[in-house]
Formats: sequence, structure tokens, C-alpha cells
Amino acid sequence: MSAATNVNELIATGRDDAPAILAPDRPALSHGGLRRLAADTVAALNRLGIGRNDPVAIVLPNGPEMAAAFVAIAAGATTAPLNPAYRAEEFDFYLGDLDAKALVVERGSQSPAIAVAQARGVPIVELIADPAGPAGAFVLEGAAAGRPATIGGPADADDVALILHTSGTTSRPKMVPLRHRNVCASARNIRVALGLTAADCCLNIMPLFHIHGLIAAVLSSIGAGGSVFCAPGFNALRFFAQLTEAKPTWYTAVPTMHQAILARAERNREAIAATPLRLIRSSSASLPPQVMRALEETFSVPVIESYGMTEAAHQMASNPLPPRPRKPGTVGVAAGPEVAIMEEDGARLLPSGDTGEVVIRGDNVTAGYAANPEANAKAFTDGWFRTGDQGVIDADGYLTITGRLKELINRGGEKISPREVDEVLMDHPAVDQAVTFSMPHDKLGEEVAAVVVLVEGASAGESELRDFVSARLADFKVPRRILFLAEIPKGATGKLQRIGLAQRLGLTA
Ligand code: AMP
Repeated sequence: MSAATNVNELIATGRDDAPAILAPDRPALSHGGLRRLAADTVAALNRLGIGRNDPVAIVLPNGPEMAAAFVAIAAGATTAPLNPAYRAEEFDFYLGDLDAKALVVERGSQSPAIAVAQARGVPIVELIADPAGPAGAFVLEGAAAGRPATIGGPADADDVALILHTSGTTSRPKMVPLRHRNVCASARNIRVALGLTAADCCLNIMPLFHIHGLIAAVLSSIGAGGSVFCAPGFNALRFFAQLTEAKPTWYTAVPTMHQAILARAERNREAIAATPLRLIRSSSASLPPQVMRALEETFSVPVIESYGMTEAAHQMASNPLPPRPRKPGTVGVAAGPEVAIMEEDGARLLPSGDTGEVVIRGDNVTAGYAANPEANAKAFTDGWFRTGDQGVIDADGYLTITGRLKELINRGGEKISPREVDEVLMDHPAVDQAVTFSMPHDKLGEEVAAVVVLVEGASAGESELRDFVSARLADFKVPRRILFLAEIPKGATGKLQRIGLAQRLGLTA
């Protein structure tokens, strides 16, 4: 079984004729087919002047082509998948920050990313899929990059396979370069934690511009010699039909998706009975123990809650498979990297039972944010990466996340930097001050809210401000509640404190 340190080794694992990528109403792309696709893609990129460590922005709808493009482009360049729901302004930031050498879109795409790329002089590479061909297979066509050709051929362990951005405490998202050795270590950690083999098939409903879907669903499955059935994203109404068609052995999702699935489970008992799973995995936000229990009862399988993060190429801790115990409300035991608790001032590591900052160390962890020495100085202490999450490890080694030291909003697994939203709100002529914060939500866990102080004499309503934000930021970042106050409430220390603001303002789920 693969101990690959680069994607080219990782995709060498599966049997030639075994399915690798599956999709509704399509023949499978085999592991042999995926290897040929990767070789062809690297050759095509090299012909366009794109080679190892060249960032290639990818804006594709969720589905088999996105999964295949991630693997095949990573085989010889650096992939940078972007959320297709971004607005032009967001694409402009990401394409610039990445210094993208090309933008890959499907032929006929209407994405605003295209005009942005053209304005920036970033060459467009078209992905042409064959709807009747194997799931995910494609060819690339485009104009040469115009810059000197870089090093071609297959990528290696220390090349950057994937760049994703994380919402930081600053308004600008931070760039997280993940090397081949990082993503392959993480795929291996997930494979080991879940006991994945060539017989496993994952139903992917996660977005493929986020670390969870890319690594836990796609790369771990391919590295195990197994397969991934790529749904066109999550749709609670279609989930059970997909289950029946894909006959997967497992799926991985965020808690809000599990809740939506549970809400429809009763009327889909037949589909559930006809598709026995081996396990269900949950990650990216905390899984309420009641949801875990209901899922286990409904599907009669272990529900494995794991703890992941972009900077860790996803998985850090995971509840183990039976016969080892799962502890509801915990994110399980270290599952790959070393996991420890550090005193919040960074002075020392704490013993079990003490609460502090969760820190990690291991071959899945990024070497550091790109071009951001300040963020790196804050993020690494004595070789440990500081997650910004607060937690405690019990005597059996199980980690419980108890809070968050960073300002991010976790909206059902989607992360939002409150400062990014503040900045957009403050650009509105009627807004004097704005503070965005996390508000409890019964289904999503957290939702985006904002307090606004208007310029004296000016007026603006909640919907006007929401439309204003929505023109510049993707929908999930738009505050669902905007409160208008005479001043921004300060915490006991007199300083602005986003954490706990919802509670102080009486906003409850
Ligand atoms: P991302 O980089 O989008 O994967 O987000 C990482 C963050 O999601 C972590 O730092 C945690 O704050 C949160 N997170 C991930 N998994 C869990 C979990 N199982 N329980 C609670 N929070 C989680």
C-alpha cells in the first residue's frame, strides 16, 4: 500500500482496471486511465509553458472533472482551486495573490474569473470534457503562457501540489502552500484512520475547492486504490438517489449536511437499507452528539468525527474505528501529526486535562504561509503549528475542542474572516464603523452577523447593506443579521471583542 510522497507515486497504487473516479450516468475512469490522464495533462501543461510549482488557478463546477483536474494538474504543476461562487473582486484578489500562471475553466464557462484573468493577462486554459467518456476525463487547450517555460515533467515531494487560502484574522486571506509530501501524508493518515482499501468507494458531496473534499474524499480514496463517486455538490433532495446509484462504502461531510440528510432519512429508509455503508465521517465543524447518535442509529454504522484544517492538509485528529471507542463531543485522538496543548502565551506544553491552544507537528503540516513572515512568526512556536483552536486532551488522548482563539466564523464548515466583511461594509458611504461577528445558528452552528454604526445624518437599511456586500463577496459571507447601533459595544476591557459579542447583544440561535 502506498507510502507515496508525491501525487505521481500516489496515483500509481490502484489496479489498472479498477475504478478511480465515478459520476452519475458515466462510465468509470480507471486508475490506469487516471494515470494516463495525469501524464497527458502534464505534457499539455508543459507545452503551454506551465511546469512544476507554477500556480494554476482552477474554477470548475463540482464533479468528476474537478476531482480529476486536481489530481492530474497537481502531477506536474501547483493547483489552486477557487470557489466558483466568488465575485469578480474576490477572483481579482486570488489570481493576483497566487500570481497564477494560468486559469483553468471548462469550455463555455460564464465565470467572472475569465474577464478578471484576461484583464490581468493570465492565460485561459480551457478544459474540454467528454460527457459520454469516462468520468472526469478531459483535454486541455489554451494559448501558451507567454512567460518562459519552467521545469517540466512530473512533480516531486517538495514541490507545491496545492495552494488554498484560509480566512485569517487579517482581512486578506492567507496563502497556504501544501507540498506533495504534505497532501500525501494527509491522504495516508485518513486512509489509515478509516481503514480504506481498494474495495472502498467514497460518495463525494463536499466542495472540491476546500481541503476536506480534496484530501479526505478524493486523494485518500485514490491513494487507497479505491474510488470516489463525484456528485455535483450537495443536494439533500438528491443525496439518497446518489447513494442508490453510487453504492458507496462511506461518505464524508460537514455537520450541516449530515443534519439535512437526517431530516430526509425517514422517507428514504429503503435507499438506506439497500446501501449498507461501512462508516460515515464528519469534519470541519463540531458535530453535535445528538446528530452523531441519530446518524449512527439511522445508518447503523460508526460515525467518525475528525478534526481538520487547511494548514494541516486536512486531518489532525480522528475518532478511531471500532473496536476502539468513539467519544461523542470529542474529535478523537491524534491521527497523523502529533497533537498537543500549548499554554496560550506559547510558553510551554500543558499536561492532559489542561485547556490551552491546540498545536500540531508532522509531515502533513504546511511549512508556512507564503510571503507572510508576520503570520508565520505568530503561527509557529518551537516547531509547533498553532491552530488557533482551544482544546483539552483527556487521559486517553482524546481531544475536545473547547473554543476558538482566532476570529474566524465557522458557518457550517465554511470559514469567513470577519475583517474581510468589515472592510466591505465600511466602503458603504453611510457606514462609519462595522464589526462582523459570529452569531449562533441552530443548523449551521454559526452564522455571520454585523453591527454597524452609521455616519451621522446618513441612512441605510439592512437589505441595502446586504446587497452592497453581496455585490462584492460570495453569498456565504453576507451577514444574515445587521444591527444598527449608536456605538460598537466594547468588552469589559474596553477593547473590541468579536468573540462573545453575539451573546452580549442577546443574539441566540
Ligand atoms: P478549514 O481550514 O476550513 O478546514 O477550517 C479549520 C477549522 O475548522 C479548525 O481550525 C477548527 O476551528 C474547525 N474544525 C475543523 N474540524 C472541526 C471539528 N471536528 N470540530 C470543531 N471544529 C472543527
